[in-house]
Amino acid sequence: MSRGKHSNRFLVCPQCGISNLFVILHNNQVNIKINWEKEVVMTVPDTNPDSIDLQNIHCLGCSWEGSVNKLVKYFIG
Ligand SMILES: [Zn+2]
Repeated sequence: MSRGKHSNRFLVCPQCGISNLFVILHNNQVNIKINWEKEVVMTVPDTNPDSIDLQNIHCLGCSWEGSVNKLVKYFIG
């Protein structure tokens, strides 16, 4: 995977179809997006993406939570 070639296409919640996700980091909610390459795109620039637990992702739009592997490219509905 080459650097500087980040996709603008984001994985979405399998339950409601939005790409606005968050994780809990040090008791704080950190909003993130995850692109098709499963790279974390930070909405808070000074957070280290390496400290994000990709097995415990929450959706901002609904009650979904789970692994990055459960996110989908296209929301079928
Ligand atoms: Zn959702």
